[in-house]
Amino acid sequence: MSAGTIRKARDLAKNGVVKIEDDLYQVKSSSDPSKSYFITSDSCDCLGFKNFYKFHHGKGIKANCSHLEAVRIFKEMKENLNSKK
Ligand SMILES: [Zn+2]
Repeated sequence: MSAGTIRKARDLAKNGVVKIEDDLYQVKSSSDPSKSYFITSDSCDCLGFKNFYKFHHGKGIKANCSHLEAVRIFKEMKENLNSKK
């Protein structure tokens, strides 16, 4: 993943991720704030994620996108908070 994607994911994790229920998160689109995507632990409904599987299908590579990464960072931040209690 590019450094730009990771930077974007960190910003989203701080103020663009909403937990809906366990294993279901809503992440705002960084390019269009009126849009948002739904993310589970290993899938996202954004175009980039779908295209990834179109181009790399069957190669055994796990798809990733800034939203999935944002949720991962979001969870990490939550865990850090909890362990400080
Ligand atoms: Zn995505």
